[in-house]
Amino acid sequence: MLKPNFKLGILGGGQLGKMLIQAASKWDIKTYVLDPDKNCSSSVICNNFEEGSFKDYDTVYNFGKKVDILTFEIEHVNTDALKDLEKEGKIVYPQPNALEIIKDKGLQKEFYRENNIPTSKYHLFQSNKEILSALNKNKLTLPFVQKSRTEGYDGKGVQTVKNEGDLTYLFNTPSLIEELVSIEKELAVIVSRNSDGESICFPTVEMEFSSDANLVEQLICPTTITPEIDARAKQIAIDIINKLKMVGNLAVEFFLTKDGDLLVNEVAPRPHNSGHHTIEGNCTSQFEQHIRAISNLPLGSTKLISPSVMINLLGHQDYNGEAVYTNINNCLAIDGVHIHIYGKRITKPFRKMGHVTIMDDSIEKAKTKANFVKNNLTVISNEK
Ligand code: ADP
Repeated sequence: MLKPNFKLGILGGGQLGKMLIQAASKWDIKTYVLDPDKNCSSSVICNNFEEGSFKDYDTVYNFGKKVDILTFEIEHVNTDALKDLEKEGKIVYPQPNALEIIKDKGLQKEFYRENNIPTSKYHLFQSNKEILSALNKNKLTLPFVQKSRTEGYDGKGVQTVKNEGDLTYLFNTPSLIEELVSIEKELAVIVSRNSDGESICFPTVEMEFSSDANLVEQLICPTTITPEIDARAKQIAIDIINKLKMVGNLAVEFFLTKDGDLLVNEVAPRPHNSGHHTIEGNCTSQFEQHIRAISNLPLGSTKLISPSVMINLLGHQDYNGEAVYTNINNCLAIDGVHIHIYGKRITKPFRKMGHVTIMDDSIEKAKTKANFVKNNLTVISNEK
């Protein structure tokens, strides 16, 4: 693996790609990135940047030919090209067949059902007409959650339909309709597996969501869940990655219901927002672990070094334009505050522009510091 000029190809050059490159550069791995935006977060720090669409067959196929191992930091990539590269002997991890199941929320749910993985009740529909007809025939009842089967991200393509008035907003796309779960907590476990079949979980995290932005507002590790629920979540995560026979990182998001049930919400086959704190908070970061897993290296210890809170740094809702970061000095002056700026030139309302990990010897103390950072560090623009 660590031979001279070893080339790791990454489809997608967003912040996840950037942090993967930072981990890869520790071992002098040469990184190749494909992204349509030449100003993306990764373009200035990778060894070789190629401007092009990761959705286009030829572009992905030709890009894959140039590297030793191919991975991705976004699900919306051309899987036909990945499958052909794999057939020709290229190492593509996570495997395209697992990605095909995961990138379609409908197929993902069918996979859970076939493999007895606990998840919320659901139905699949082709169009809004079909949904309305099922409601008329009492085969479906309000309220429910509608999710576009493909192309959604960060809460986009997901909506809660509470009453008849909301039905006018139904997406007219193939969709997954789920029962509205009574959520006590949202949890996530990142599990990693190498091709020898060795697997290891990161400590479970608790995610608090912002209802304005529909994004994770704050992530906490360790959680306050019981050891029994914690063990159950990790066992389910390992079960899923083994059943998918997947190599790489798999982030598993759960709902802990008010009745104490643990339901899988969805999974992502890549490094994930719920593991950003592992860069400073754990012995091995999720990015290094992904590289270890796809290269079939021994997996690193996931031990938590210190309680951590992670907040996303989102573009202020009133600004569009060249990004300016306020009060960085005041925040950096606090012990245990680690600021990551992704380097996106333009800020937009609620755009993920960076994240901050705050560490202290208790979650309470870390939360107090996190509140200070939230109230002071903002992403605005001199233009409006
Ligand atoms: P995305 O893939 O865009 O992250 P998710 O499927 O994770 O979308 O949904 C985003 C958020 O919407 C979840 O984190 C949760 O807060 C809420 N949500 C999703 N599905 C349900 C559900 N069945 N019941 C209640 N809330 C849900």
